[in-house]
Amino acid sequence: MARKRTVTSILRTHVGVVPHRAKSPKYAEIHSRLQGAEVGVSVCPYCAVGCSQLVYHRDGKLLSIEGNYESFINGGTLCPKGSATYGLVVNPRRVTTVKYRAPGSDHWEEKPLDWAMERIAQLVKTTRDATYVHQTPDGRTVNRTTCIAHLGGATLDNEENYLIKKLFGAGLGMVYIENQARI
Ligand code: SF4
Repeated sequence: MARKRTVTSILRTHVGVVPHRAKSPKYAEIHSRLQGAEVGVSVCPYCAVGCSQLVYHRDGKLLSIEGNYESFINGGTLCPKGSATYGLVVNPRRVTTVKYRAPGSDHWEEKPLDWAMERIAQLVKTTRDATYVHQTPDGRTVNRTTCIAHLGGATLDNEENYLIKKLFGAGLGMVYIENQARI
């Protein structure tokens, strides 16, 4: 009967004596930079594949973002773009405030978020009031405006897209609602 050979026995035959659990003192002191870190589960902010990510952090500081090996979508992997998510979060040049360029202006201004939300709401109302169509010239009821559009991003989930469709379509009468749907 053939004896089952282990990796250690094969090495012993071909290389020589193999110490049990060989480990140098220096090696024994080395540990992962993520050792003891807390980890949260997130989703890649980029495309419609929706890869799961593990977000490692310690003392409120982000350490690393890696592929979630428990995900049935990406199985621990991330594409080059998803792998750069850490760089997106910690990049000091990341834009984190509202930038506004007035009509005819050649430069951007910084504005408070509340100001931007109010302005968007007012422009939506003004445009909808001015362009809403109840009936087409041949008498068909349409109750719509074709002068406002919505373009969603890949991080919007099913529930958010449901609400967007409900508010913008049924509520405001918008026709052009597009998204990169996923999760
Ligand atoms: S890791 Fe790559 S493939 Fe996966 S969601 Fe992010 S961008 Fe898409």
